[in-house]
Amino acid sequence: MDLRRWAAGAAVLLSAGMLANCSQMFGGAGGEGVTTAMLVGADGDTANWISHGRTYSEQRFSPLEGVNRENVGQLGLAWYADMDTARGQEATPLVLDGKLYLTTAWSKVKAFDATTGAKLWEYDPKVPGETGVKACCDVVNRGLAAYGDKLFFGTLDGRLIALDQGTGAVVWEKVTVDQSKSYTITGAPRVIDGKVIIGNGGAEFGVRGFVAAYDANNGEQLWKFYTVPEGGEVKDQPAYLQKAAETWNMDVLGANDAIGGGGTVWDSMAYDPELDLLYIGVGNGSPWNRAYRSPAKDGSGGEGDNLYLSSIVAIRPGTGEYVWHYQTTPGETWDFTATQHIMLADMEIDGKMRKVLMQAPKNGFFYVIDRETGKFISAKPYVSINWASGIDPKTGRPIENPETRVDRTGKPALVMPGALGGHNWHPMAFSPKEKLVYIPAFEAGMMYAPEAAWKPDTARGFNVGFNLGAGDLPPDGGFRKQVAGTLRGMLVAWDPVAQKARWTVEHPGPWNGGLLATGGGLVFQGTAGSEFNAYDAASGKKLWSFGAQTGVVAPPVTYMVGGEQYVAVLAGWGGAYAITVDGDLLGRKAPVRNISRLLVFKIGGKAQLPAPPASAALPLDPPPSTAPAAVIAVGQARYARYCAVCHGPGAVGSTVLPDLRRAGALESAATWSAVVHDGALKDRGMASFAGSLSKDEIEAIRAYVIKRANEDKALEAGNTIARR
Ligand code: CA
Repeated sequence: MDLRRWAAGAAVLLSAGMLANCSQMFGGAGGEGVTTAMLVGADGDTANWISHGRTYSEQRFSPLEGVNRENVGQLGLAWYADMDTARGQEATPLVLDGKLYLTTAWSKVKAFDATTGAKLWEYDPKVPGETGVKACCDVVNRGLAAYGDKLFFGTLDGRLIALDQGTGAVVWEKVTVDQSKSYTITGAPRVIDGKVIIGNGGAEFGVRGFVAAYDANNGEQLWKFYTVPEGGEVKDQPAYLQKAAETWNMDVLGANDAIGGGGTVWDSMAYDPELDLLYIGVGNGSPWNRAYRSPAKDGSGGEGDNLYLSSIVAIRPGTGEYVWHYQTTPGETWDFTATQHIMLADMEIDGKMRKVLMQAPKNGFFYVIDRETGKFISAKPYVSINWASGIDPKTGRPIENPETRVDRTGKPALVMPGALGGHNWHPMAFSPKEKLVYIPAFEAGMMYAPEAAWKPDTARGFNVGFNLGAGDLPPDGGFRKQVAGTLRGMLVAWDPVAQKARWTVEHPGPWNGGLLATGGGLVFQGTAGSEFNAYDAASGKKLWSFGAQTGVVAPPVTYMVGGEQYVAVLAGWGGAYAITVDGDLLGRKAPVRNISRLLVFKIGGKAQLPAPPASAALPLDPPPSTAPAAVIAVGQARYARYCAVCHGPGAVGSTVLPDLRRAGALESAATWSAVVHDGALKDRGMASFAGSLSKDEIEAIRAYVIKRANEDKALEAGNTIARR
């Protein structure tokens, strides 16, 4: 069968509005399983959810209207399933013919009966625990792809695995990355015409980004597309990378293997079958600070746009050939990735129907781009920003605020958005009925401080080229409350034609869940505040709410079995913000905890969750702080470089990973060293730092954490902040 012709045919039928239900026409998922025609026609297959964003357009809109504005008040829990991991849960489940498949933290896969919750099978790829230190943003996994009779997913340690849909048995397995470097896979693959496409992450540590295609039948690599040039001979590289090399200081890129350049493709992809274009979102530079990554030849800071960092790139999926790019943040230096959700839609702009691509990348602008040509159409800020005052409509380039670009020396700058962006990986949704894009947005500015003598370290830790300790909160309850007051979380209903919000729902803080929009006029979203909510898609009015007992960050899906519509969401607090920010900063009485659990709802559902476990009241009871100030200062600097990204700035830990101020190991230099130097807890994710930190530095970090714990104990005694 010529799959491309099937795909093209189905696309024509869809665009003519002739195809009401693909699964009827193509005979469902029996026989040869999921076909290219089914993936192209996924919008008509309302019962199932067969690819990551439901359709290749990644709109995350389901036409189902069984659950709607009128009856959503009767939505109840149909069933739930507890997960065997307690880290961030970010996955989108797939649903195929009454079976629900999902990935969880640590890249595990589980299959359930979609109506009863009976477990059908599960698979654990046994990712080594110490891989956890290579992951910038928790040991998460965002999902699967289905094709034929197989399921495909990536593992944190860089493998791409094909499982049998029926049994969960491994069909093939392929290592896609150089496992000696800090590459990780957390994103979901897509399958186009029998090719499994997957990228990876790692640009905080020092890697060179790429996306590659593998044969769905056997895992053979078919093409590999690098996003940044390789150091060394430029003339031997493909033309699009030669062009990119003109925008880099190639001396530095070539001189140091630890630089890598970055540009990882760690999350979003979309596909237009008619244009036969695959769109990828490219990540930040490695290191972040351009003054180190691509220094100006005259020594005045950084130089060059550094293509294709922070760009949307269109690729021919059959060959991996470059077609066009649009760079959202030229000369990226703030971790402003363009890996955020890419969504395709057709809409009337200035009296003409346009085929557009939309993205709300970290940099705070909502972009509408012509997806045939990559030409800029419009962009406006969807959150408060200060790094640019707008986008020049002629050039499509940002009008940058020079005070927010921090080099090797000089003044620090508080930049909005910060490194977590105005929107992160959490999927948006689009309602063609309301002509609105729903954005899980937030505001969390960040202090970028120069680090004059920065050197890369390939062994361990972040390689970003800034002083990450500069943003530590002083032990002052009033100041902390002020900082908490600047944090915002919002559900924004954005009109992409008018480029403005039609309505906004305020949440208590950042890092709320991904989105689903439905034909029933609803938008579903979980929150950091442990709710799962339904809103009126037209007005934002909250119509229904469920107490989820844990923060929800993953996006919901919906499906239909036996005439009944279900809504499913994987709950479980975690991810980049959750591991580095203490619950106090959300302004809540009790910090959000991780209870990893799949929740499935239907009208009239009567299931009940068990009572939540009692709050873990770990005392803040450190040994006295007796170390000399000079030792504590060394510990503070080393902590900021190697520990803060997982255990929190200022040693104020989260509930997802151990809060070191409360760690038992704080009492004993020997126990502390056994963990940090010898790697005693490596199977749980805490690898040895012996290659990067001396024993004296490790002990200095302990002295710093003891000092911080004592400061915060005094603060609690003053009752300034309610504690767990
Ligand atoms: Ca990043």
